[in-house]
Amino acid sequence: MEALLVRERFDLVVDATHPYAAEVTENIAQACRRAGVEYLRLLREADALPEGAVYFPDTEAAVNWLAETEGNILLTTGSKDLAKYAALPDFARRAYVRVLPMEASLTACRAAGLSPVICSAYRSYEKQEELYRNKVDRLLAQGYAQTDAEEEAGREVARPGTSEHQLGLAVDIVDLDNQNLDETQEDTAVQQWLMAHSWEYGFILRYPGGKSEITGIIYEPWHYRYVGRDAAAEIYEQGVCLEEYLAP
Ligand SMILES: [Zn+2]
Repeated sequence: MEALLVRERFDLVVDATHPYAAEVTENIAQACRRAGVEYLRLLREADALPEGAVYFPDTEAAVNWLAETEGNILLTTGSKDLAKYAALPDFARRAYVRVLPMEASLTACRAAGLSPVICSAYRSYEKQEELYRNKVDRLLAQGYAQTDAEEEAGREVARPGTSEHQLGLAVDIVDLDNQNLDETQEDTAVQQWLMAHSWEYGFILRYPGGKSEITGIIYEPWHYRYVGRDAAAEIYEQGVCLEEYLAP
């Protein structure tokens, strides 16, 4: 911690850890003192709880309650409790788990049936249709006309039958610290590494920035496609997209 503070030359640390994490707080405060970095403690007000919140005496009670509900679940629990939640039917489909990116957490995620790094790989036609329809519906709700909504949706979600994910040749990979499918992916350590090295394994960044006019798809700094090592090396060296590479 102290080494990190010195190396990254922080001016200020805001410690917003949980009130129960007393040891963590002490470590942070101590590191700040030694590194000469200003330290602020942020404590949430104890009674500032959201309206409509539901309380349970323990994890089991929460799991029982969730089993009677539908829809997706954002879990910010510690990875130690994951196994209890994994008892929920459809857990892997419903749950979005946010855990610290440590090997033990990842192992717990995998044991609970989750895939913590690769966020999208093979998709069936039905799945692609569902994603595309959801996108169109969201745009319609925003006031788009039907044809405009379909056109705009097609730039972000491939139309059913045209997605590389249906081929089984594409993967979406995100950084555990940033799982947003937007341009901020580009700055993550995972993408920096993948953009530099994926060609060595036969994968290319399929929809690069500045090539949207040619690919017809927005910049996707998370979507990689397997093209084989030779083609990947040439595409990488030439700085072209697949359409340009294949053009006669
Ligand atoms: Zn993708």
